[in-house]
Amino acid sequence: MTEESPALYVVPTPIGNLGDMTLRAIEILRQVPWVAAEDTRHSGPLLKHYGSDARLMPAHEHNEEAAAQQVIARLDGGESVALLSDAGTPAISDPGARLVARVRAAGFRVVPLPGACAAISALSASGLPAPHFLFYGFLPARTAQRETTLRGLSALPYTLVFYEAPHRILETVESLAAVFGPDRTLVMARELTKLFETIHSGLLGNAYDWLTADANRQRGEFVLLVSGAQEAADDSESARVLKLLLGEGLPVKQAAKLAHAITGAKKNAMYEMALAFMQHADVSGRQII
Ligand code: SAM
Repeated sequence: MTEESPALYVVPTPIGNLGDMTLRAIEILRQVPWVAAEDTRHSGPLLKHYGSDARLMPAHEHNEEAAAQQVIARLDGGESVALLSDAGTPAISDPGARLVARVRAAGFRVVPLPGACAAISALSASGLPAPHFLFYGFLPARTAQRETTLRGLSALPYTLVFYEAPHRILETVESLAAVFGPDRTLVMARELTKLFETIHSGLLGNAYDWLTADANRQRGEFVLLVSGAQEAADDSESARVLKLLLGEGLPVKQAAKLAHAITGAKKNAMYEMALAFMQHADVSGRQII
C-alpha cells in the first residue's frame, strides 16, 4: 500500500461505463486483500475486470453492523479493506455510512476515493445553477408521503436533486408538478454513461407528456433535477418572454438571444428552454409541433 497503516478505502465504481474507474481506484482494488461489497455476486466480476484478486465479504443494509465488526477485525490484523456498493459512490443513497461510522469510531483511517456518482454527473451537465444544491436522493414511495416531503422542500432556493427508479418515474414527476407547479425547470438525466444516455431539460408542466410520448423515455435509471424556488421565479419570467418570441415565429437561436438580452437569463439556459418549448410546448396558444 502507498500508506503505511491499514485503512478502509471507500471506492466508487462505474454507474454504467466501465471506463469510469479512476487509476487510483483500480490500484487500491489490486492492493487490498479484502473488499466489503453491497452485493458480492455483482462486485466479483467487476474485481476480475480490474485485475483484483481481493477476497469478498458482504456489507449490505441488512448486515452492516456485523460487517463493520468483520472489517474492524481485518484492520486490527493490519489488512486494508475497500468498500464497494453496486454502482457509484458507497454511502450515497447506498449502504456504507454505518460501517464507515463504526470503523472511524474504532480509530481506523477511512480514505475516500473520488469517482462516479450519478447525482454529481447529472448536476454537472444539467445547466442548473449549483453554487448551492440539495441532494435529496429517493423520495418516499407513497404519494401522500412523497408530496408532504416535497412541500417541505418547495420554498428552498436551491437546485433539488432526486434519484428515481423507472417504475416510479411517472408518479414522481406528477408529484413534482403538483407540488412545485408547472413553471420550474426539470432536468431528467437518464441512463448516464450508458448507450441510451438522455439529458432532457424542460418545464415541469411538460414533463409528464414528454415521458409518455415515447415509452422508451421512461426506461432506465434517473436523476431528476428541479430548479430552486427563486430560480423558478426567474424561469417563469424568461419562459414567458421566450414563449412570446417563439410565438411570433422567431427561430430558436434568435429567440434565445433576445430573451437573454431582455431578461438577463443565461443564454444557454434560454436556448435549452427554447428547444424544449419547440418540441413540447404550446406557445401563445399555438401548437408548435
Ligand atoms: N451510490 C450511487 C451514486 O453514487 O450515484 C447511487 C445508488 S442508488 C441505489 C441508485 C440510483 O442512482 C438510481 O435509482 C438512479 O436514480 C441513480 N443512478 C444510478 N446510476 C445511474 C445512471 N447511470 N443514470 C442515471 N441515474 C443513475
